[in-house]
Amino acid sequence: MSNRLSERINSVTPSATLEMAAKARELRASGKDIIGLSLGEPDFNTPDYIKEAAKQAINDDYNSYSPVDGYVELKDAIITKFKRDNDLNYEHAQIVVSTGAKQALYNVAQVVLNKGDEVILPCPYWVSYSDIVKLADGVPVEVPTSIESDFKMTANQLEAAITPKTKMLWYSSPCNPSGSIYGKDELRAMADVLQRHPQIVVVSDEIYEHINYGVTVHASMASFEGMFNRTVTVNGVAKAFAMTGWRIGYIGAPSYIARACNKLQGQVTSGANCIAQRAVITALLESPDRIQYMVDEFKERRKIILGLLNDIEGFQCNEPEGAFYVYPDVTAYFGKTLNGVTINNASDFAMYLLEHANVATVTGDAFGNGNCIRISYAASEKELREAVERIKGVL
Ligand SMILES: *Cc1c(COP(=O)(O)O)cnc(C)c1O
Repeated sequence: MSNRLSERINSVTPSATLEMAAKARELRASGKDIIGLSLGEPDFNTPDYIKEAAKQAINDDYNSYSPVDGYVELKDAIITKFKRDNDLNYEHAQIVVSTGAKQALYNVAQVVLNKGDEVILPCPYWVSYSDIVKLADGVPVEVPTSIESDFKMTANQLEAAITPKTKMLWYSSPCNPSGSIYGKDELRAMADVLQRHPQIVVVSDEIYEHINYGVTVHASMASFEGMFNRTVTVNGVAKAFAMTGWRIGYIGAPSYIARACNKLQGQVTSGANCIAQRAVITALLESPDRIQYMVDEFKERRKIILGLLNDIEGFQCNEPEGAFYVYPDVTAYFGKTLNGVTINNASDFAMYLLEHANVATVTGDAFGNGNCIRISYAASEKELREAVERIKGVL
């Protein structure tokens, strides 16, 4: 019986992206030819130079517990990376390495939020944010955006959403799921608003930093005046380095927050996997040019999928500037009946595509915006073309 479970876990929604992937696997096992465009995972393998570093670490007998917050050499590499890419000067005591960026985010919510604290989440946001906030007894405050504003929150919207209970602003840029990137001016305008509200901590999830198609230059909130001492910069290697399963993420943060995350992690995981940490030293110290081939490939696929989707009546796409997702507005289909199925919302639409077109996508509801679906284009060109063909066929 589920009623012996805690209210805490009963209040959590399962990850919609993982759930869709499981459903697609199930249908595949039953013999259906499903094209999976639901998961946020590169279809590349980890680059060889990083794999070699891991093999070397095994041979060098890295097999003991690492420091809870990460090897010193990895912290050195992270500090070098923050300086090189973001012009941020962190010290060792401000860095914590975790089991994926997801755990890094979870730690921060756990150590910063008290019951009832409000967390401003510009919508659409990454699927886990609202549940991580709820697990910390925080209250997600969703700020809606739309395709007209390129799915970005304005400084005025931020100002209007702030209450005396606001404790945190939390966003990703480049954004999963919209691919939008906040430019320097937009971030500066938000930083100006935040100057008047010193109680607010900013969580800036920059895991797609390197997957940027060159329109808007990546900027870190921590680099703006007055923001360094109240911003947690979150990053990781899963996406840009094709290392999802290695499970390494990290933060640069005010040292009191870093210390608290270290304390929490010391009671939960005792630190991240030792071999993966050694491999990430190499990943971060090598030039980002070495992973550019994947970014170039994603850029090409973005062009292809946008072209194909814009050809379908009723799909309205923004032009994603980073990450590897398109987030089409599909409201034109709401209220319609297709092949006997009535589409009332984005969930119905995504389910219709799965069951009738054998294409797995994710409902926009999971990201706090019910007008859209998310399509990952981290798939081969052949799969993308076939998927869109099938989608067209059932619409
Ligand atoms: C994938 C993803 C994460 C989690 O990264 P891991 O390192 O795999 O835990 C965090 N934030 C965003 C926006 C993501 O898309």
